[in-house]
Amino acid sequence: MPYASVYPLLTARAVARPFTYEVPDEVGKGAVVQVRFGSARRRGVVAAVGEAPPDGVRVAAVEKVLGDVPPALVDLALWLADYYGSTPARALELVAPHRPARRKEQTSAAGRHALGGEGRPGALSGPQGSALERIVAGLDAGKAAHFLLYGATGSGKTEVYLRACEETLARGRGAIVLVPEIALTPQALGRFRARFGDGVAVLHSGLTDAERRDERDRIAAGDARLVVGARSAVFAPLADLGLICVDEEHDASYKQESDPRYDARTVAAKRAALEGAVAVYGSATPRPESWARLERLELGGRIAGPLPPVRVIDLRREGGYPLSAPLLEELERLDRGGGKAILLLNRRGVAPALHCRACGVTRRCGNCDVALVLHGDGALRCHHCGQAEAAPRTCPECGSPDLARLGAGTQRLERELERVFPGLERIRLDADAVAKPELLADALRRFEQVDRAVLLGTQMVAKGHHFAGVALAAVVDADTGLAMPDFRAEERTFQLLTQLAGRSGRDAPGRVLIQTFQPDARPIALAARHDVEQFVAGELERRRELGYPPFRHLVRVLVAGPEPDAPMQALAELRDRLDGAEVLGPAPLLRLRGRYRAQLVAKTESPRRVAGPAGRLLAAASPAMRKAGLTAVIDVDPQSL
Ligand SMILES: [Zn+2]
Ligand SMILES: [Zn+2]
Repeated sequence: MPYASVYPLLTARAVARPFTYEVPDEVGKGAVVQVRFGSARRRGVVAAVGEAPPDGVRVAAVEKVLGDVPPALVDLALWLADYYGSTPARALELVAPHRPARRKEQTSAAGRHALGGEGRPGALSGPQGSALERIVAGLDAGKAAHFLLYGATGSGKTEVYLRACEETLARGRGAIVLVPEIALTPQALGRFRARFGDGVAVLHSGLTDAERRDERDRIAAGDARLVVGARSAVFAPLADLGLICVDEEHDASYKQESDPRYDARTVAAKRAALEGAVAVYGSATPRPESWARLERLELGGRIAGPLPPVRVIDLRREGGYPLSAPLLEELERLDRGGGKAILLLNRRGVAPALHCRACGVTRRCGNCDVALVLHGDGALRCHHCGQAEAAPRTCPECGSPDLARLGAGTQRLERELERVFPGLERIRLDADAVAKPELLADALRRFEQVDRAVLLGTQMVAKGHHFAGVALAAVVDADTGLAMPDFRAEERTFQLLTQLAGRSGRDAPGRVLIQTFQPDARPIALAARHDVEQFVAGELERRRELGYPPFRHLVRVLVAGPEPDAPMQALAELRDRLDGAEVLGPAPLLRLRGRYRAQLVAKTESPRRVAGPAGRLLAAASPAMRKAGLTAVIDVDPQSL
């Protein structure tokens, strides 16, 4: 019998190497097996076959063969573990997840979760045709290729994905289409099923275990050659992958914020490289990283007509916040004549802070260093740890009844709208209003069906949903994101404003309003002109000077603990032992859930050369850190700082 090197799927960091087992003849790389490990039974993944057993070691046989995954996915997982500083077992768990028991026959999850889709349009536009030609040439060249598909909202990116998938399937190869959020899968799924029928599978973390098993089985059996899904679908067990499309590639949701902290966009690029596939990244507001690195396929403006004009309202001159006179005027027009509006206010609750006018103290969370947010039910809530308390009538510090509600949140905006336009239907979309996915789906369906309504909410309203008949898109407070201490704050603001502006007037003349206290700020002024190219050019120039991505990689090390000084000290010691990288910090961060935090940020050409040593140094210090109650996280290519 041959021998195989097998990674047992254990979460413990200490076991990070393969073990040798005897396997049946038919077992190859990618087989999922059951092995004895210590005194327990474990699943394991075969990484290689045919090695001689180590001398003098008694080698056990695997107990059972449970299934297999395409061998290329084993290479992908081992690369991922190394690049993101995770363990092989945790990364292999992503490509070979646990298989729950089979359930009774049902229609496929893809069938049940899909919304409707449109038919195939006759001809492609000129730019669509040229983009497709380049992608097909990439497919036929038989080696990996990476493209940025850049075009305004409504320029026809989805049709290019659909045709590229058609061409891929016609060549007998498989395709994956990623969308940034689970909430966006029903719409995407509907479109692909309208074109490809039951040959489409869906994968995301919102499926039940049984649904996920059925979908994975349909993919593995070759019954579904096209997979639509969120982040985790990048690991779909498709053999002979030809194409990966990453829609809305600028969206930070592609990054997983728990170990393994992978970025599905980077993993897609690696998978394409390993399997000789074509990766297509689409966006109306691409990341500077993609702009600088990828061959650009440009779709240009909207097919249906020009982008809507944007009017910037200077809140330093216009009173009435959150509803300025020009915004009220637009809403009145809607109230009289019908049509739909989308209002973005990227802050939940009634008021983001309760502030005493007498002594100047703002009510803060006892566990986190942030102001408590006043909610409609009369509670003050912490948006970081969830802790709630009843809002006081008088200041707990000085007893004054003069408490001011500073700023506005989505709940306050909803109340104002109700007061001024009682006849206009309001649909609120934020984490409080749509705590469950069904509620979100209901809200979106309602907005789709009515002929006059206001959809108001946080950044959820600006994500890739497509609605007909949106006559007005307005940003109530464009300044909320700009004050964030993150080098991507301007990029995020620009993307959010431009994406929201793109929701208006897709099928009818539309108007866009941006309310701001900083009308001259670069992301606001350029978003108002839909000027993506100038924004990205400026952003790249700034990042080149500062050594930020795409010019260098970032590695972030975060330490948290119960005492104020310990995280800073632990990181200062780590910094002194890290060489070969420019290291910023350590700097203290906001206290969160009662834990003091600090971070180091390294800028480097080679993230592995920082993350590897940092991981080993932290592992060596781990007994002392555990005693002090300290936890550490290494984040390669972090998406927020
Ligand atoms: Zn007071
Ligand atoms: Zn808190």
